Amino acid sequence: MQVVFWGVRGSYPVARADCLRYGGNTPCIELEAGGQCVLVDAGTGIRAAGQALVERGVEDIHLLLSHTHWDHIQGLPHFAPLYRDNTRLRIYGLKRGDCSLEEVFRAQQQQPFYPVPLDSVPAQVEFVELTDGQSWCIGDVDIECRRLNHPGVAGGYRVVHQGTAFAYICDTDLVTDDLLGDEMPDSREYRQRLRDNVRDLAHRGDLIVCDTFFLPQEYRADFGHSSAEDALRLGREVEARCVTFFHHAPQRSDGEMDQLVADFRALGQEGPEMLAAAEGVQLAL
Ligand SMILES: [Zn+2]
Ligand SMILES: [Zn+2]
Repeated sequence: MQVVFWGVRGSYPVARADCLRYGGNTPCIELEAGGQCVLVDAGTGIRAAGQALVERGVEDIHLLLSHTHWDHIQGLPHFAPLYRDNTRLRIYGLKRGDCSLEEVFRAQQQQPFYPVPLDSVPAQVEFVELTDGQSWCIGDVDIECRRLNHPGVAGGYRVVHQGTAFAYICDTDLVTDDLLGDEMPDSREYRQRLRDNVRDLAHRGDLIVCDTFFLPQEYRADFGHSSAEDALRLGREVEARCVTFFHHAPQRSDGEMDQLVADFRALGQEGPEMLAAAEGVQLAL
């Protein structure tokens, strides 16, 4: 499985000189496995991903959406494959109670927000609404979606190909017992389910990409985000091979990111490898 990070920043894109190395685009990751193209999230990083896919002639694209907060969808209008008639794009995301996935994307490209309505793009675009725990296959790639604890309706994914497991656990609070999402049943069982969801997605993952938005002193209980400490604790619990810090706070400079990783390495703790995701980094799992 090949992994490319096209956007790693949380909340909104940044373009300051002190964050060029890790990059300022919002979340988008490309996975290539078994000849399938799977993108994860449609933040502004998807613009460069789209150009690369057009250059490589990739026409069949699966986009896994964690949720519809702006930083995870705002790149789609600028996704070059949308404007090509041979593209078949399938967009997957958890079903919401109030509106469909398609309505969210339609609204984003409606006047007066954008000049090209989604209905008029040449690509064939399909929407697939998922339920918590749903799994399916794309060729010989197995994918599973689980709900995460985050405002609105957010989910994570586990993508497995020939025994190699990638997990995307972004935009979630890994520690709180508060229920942050829409229509979450207020019960002990449901809280346990949310904890199990995270552990099942990450279980012995070769690469688990985690929300590490906060430093411990920045933590806010109602935001639905986590810290590197939380991600590493999860990585140890599930025996992950590598934990990837992701959804970096917009104010975090390259120097602060380097320091964060260096401080954890200096602790010399047993456990998974760690990596802070940076735009343009490619990994072979
Ligand atoms: Zn986000
Ligand atoms: Zn969010």
